[in-house]
Formats: sequence, C-alpha cells, structure tokens
Amino acid sequence: MQTRFTEEQYKRPEIREADEILRKCVHCGFCTATCPTYVITGDERDSPRGRIWMMRDMLESDAPASQETSFHLDRCLTCLSCMTTCPSGVDYMHLAEIGRDYVHKTTRRPLSDRLLRMMLVKILPRVGLFSLALRASKIAQPFARLFPTSIRAMIRSAPKKLKKLDPIGSTDMTYPAEGKTHSRVILLSGCAQRAIEPEINSATIRILNRIGVDVIVRKQASCCGALAHHIDEPEAAQNAVREVVRAWSHEISDKQIDAIIVNTSGCGTMLKDYGHLLKDDAELANAAATISSLACDITEFLADSNAISFTRKPNLIVGYHSACSLQHGQQITHAPKLLLAKAGVEIAIPKDPHLCCGSAGVYSILQPELSSQLKHRKLENLNKLEVDLFVAGNIGCINQLADADAPFCHIVQLLDYLSGGPVPPSIQALPQLLSAE
Ligand code: SF4
Ligand code: SF4
Repeated sequence: MQTRFTEEQYKRPEIREADEILRKCVHCGFCTATCPTYVITGDERDSPRGRIWMMRDMLESDAPASQETSFHLDRCLTCLSCMTTCPSGVDYMHLAEIGRDYVHKTTRRPLSDRLLRMMLVKILPRVGLFSLALRASKIAQPFARLFPTSIRAMIRSAPKKLKKLDPIGSTDMTYPAEGKTHSRVILLSGCAQRAIEPEINSATIRILNRIGVDVIVRKQASCCGALAHHIDEPEAAQNAVREVVRAWSHEISDKQIDAIIVNTSGCGTMLKDYGHLLKDDAELANAAATISSLACDITEFLADSNAISFTRKPNLIVGYHSACSLQHGQQITHAPKLLLAKAGVEIAIPKDPHLCCGSAGVYSILQPELSSQLKHRKLENLNKLEVDLFVAGNIGCINQLADADAPFCHIVQLLDYLSGGPVPPSIQALPQLLSAE
C-alpha cells in the first residue's frame, strides 16, 4: 500500500512504525473472508483491509479521527484472525494499537461511553470489586431489560453460578514441587478469572507441582493490563504493565525463572507483547523484553516439558474451542490438541474454528449486538458436535459459551483431573468420570 506521510510526520516513531506496517499490505483481501465482523456485516469498512485503509487515511490527514473511522475501529474484536490469514505478514495488531491511540488522543467519546469505559477499567482489574459487581449483577438480572444496552450486556454476562473468590494471588506465595524440583516458574494469577472460576489457578498449580515445578505467585502482579488495553485506556494499561514488570523484577534479574505461566490466553498475548509495549521505557524495557521471552501458555509449557502422565482414562469425547488469543494471538494450535490426544480423549473440532466467539475482552459489553451474533453462530457450530464436554484455554470464551449443550471447563482443569487431580466442578455430573473413579 502506498503511503504519503510528510517528513514532519515521519519524525514521529509511531508514524514510522505504522508506515512500515501499511506498506506491507497489498490489498489482496484474503483477510476479509476470515474476519468475523466482515463475515457478519459484509461491510468492507468492517474488514481488516477496510480498517487498514481508513487508518492510513486518518494518520496521513493529521486531523481528528472521523466518526466513521472510530466506529469501525471500535467494532474490530482484535481477534487477530487477519494476521493468521495475511500472506504478506501485515502486523495488524500493532497498527490497530497506533490507530486506536490516535483516535483516543484526537476525539472525545460521548459521555455515556466514557463513563462505561471508566467504570470497566476501575472495576474489572480489581478482583474483590469485580466479585462484588458480579454479585450485584446476579441480583439485577431479572430486571436487566430496564437498563441501557451496555449495562444490560454487563449484567447478563455474569456467570450462571457465582463462586468463592480464588485466594491464589492475594499474598506472595511459592507452591513447592512434589518431590524433586526440576524447574521454577512464575504464575500470573490474573484478575477477572479469579472471580469467575477460582479452580483454574488451583488446577494449574497442582499439575505443575505434580511434574516437579515450583510455582511462584506475586500479589502485585495480578492484572496484566489487557483489559484496559481492550477498553482503549492506554495510560491505565501502561500503568498495569509497569506494576507487573516491577513485581517480577527480582526473580527476572536473578535469572531464577524458567518460564512465566499464563492460563488465560488473552493475558498470554499481552505478556508476549510487553517488550514492544515498553520498548521506549529506559527503566523497564529490558525486564519487559525478558518477560515476553519467558511468557508461556500453560499448554505450551506442558507439551514442551513432556513430563505429564495421565492416570485416568475415561471414555470422553471433548470439543476443543480454540480461543483467538491462543490460535491467532500466540499461534498456539498444536499443544492443546497434543495434550488431549496424549490423555487419550477423542477430540472434536467445530466448523469455522478460526472465527471469534464474540467475547474478546470486554467486546461483549462494548459491542453487545455483534458479540451476540458471533456467540450464537459459535454455539450453533459447537452444538452440532456430539461431545461430552467442551474445553478452552480462556475464561472469557468459557463464560461467553456457557449456554452450549455440553458443559465447559478450562483445558488445564481437565488435564489436571486426568493426571490425578479432583474432578472439575462444572463436569462432575458426567457418568464417564464417575465410572473412571
Ligand atoms: S482483528 Fe479480527 S475483527 Fe479485527 S480486523 Fe482483524 S480479523 Fe477482523
Ligand atoms: S491479507 Fe494482508 S496484504 Fe492482503 S489485504 Fe489483508 S492485510 Fe492486506
């Protein structure tokens, strides 16, 4: 794609970066067919190619972003399916970051939108506050119709069953390996996940300890900044990133750590980009780059270590839902299936596995209509599979797809159970599991 930035514009690092990305796009349009928003609306401005075009015009103009550009950029899920498809290696993720940052700096959203985003950025990363908000949402659910669309979407997105808050991450702690220690890792305890499904961190620690891994958790490193990043609050996202980097700086600088484990793939994509996000930070750039190089999805780590052995062999058919942040954001497609196959379960994959389920961070709250259409499309495809249960590696997808015909759990919960851990609560009624005990 041709660009016409002036020499003055070219002095800005973000313009140089955008220019390099834009020039790689050859307008071939292959990405449109795999873009969920284009598939739903059929509007070129809701496709990667259309958005790239609009961002180019916006950045070249140096004028405030138009309502049209801002509207269609907001509708992008940042699912990164376009990056998997693109044969020219266009770095849509970083271009969209530059584009959104430009919109953030040059326009002012309507008051109701600003208030909603402010509320989300204050509540979601604070585990205790988020847990209270979920409880309030459950009480409000029968009256959800009376609320404005976005608040209604937020109320309806509360999980069906509320659980006790996950205590892992509330204090600094090391969870020692069973037997001899073979390696040491940090676990990102996370934020929203701890309030929605407290069992995921426990299952992760159990499985790691079982294969000889010490697991370190730091209280200060909870929210990785991905939620604020999705809400288009760059300052809040940068503050969260810096807090996490500082919290881990001791372990990182002492080179005591073999990996940083993430069990929410949206956070994994974020951590793997810390080096880029803090590249200009004189104090933290090196530590951030180290974190990116150590960050590892739990399935990636378990598949690489090859140390896990499965002691339970129930006769199960498992539907695998691949989260976008895992398959597109981190290009991890093989490891989860490899582990499930090694565990001896039968794997079923739905139609259109590359298309997003509409969860995408806070997309289901900010863009409830498109999110709902994507959710129903995904549920239809999942429900065509005749499976005993579904697994995924991202709490957002698990919560979004909780209405599927078969129960959902996190893949690490199933792997933990099959290698000797307790039955995951959401699937404990399955007769195959009872007979395997
Ligand atoms: S990130 Fe996803 S929604 Fe956005 S343009 Fe790319 S494929 Fe479409
Ligand atoms: S597939 Fe890549 S090169 Fe082709 S239009 Fe999309 S972003 Fe541009």
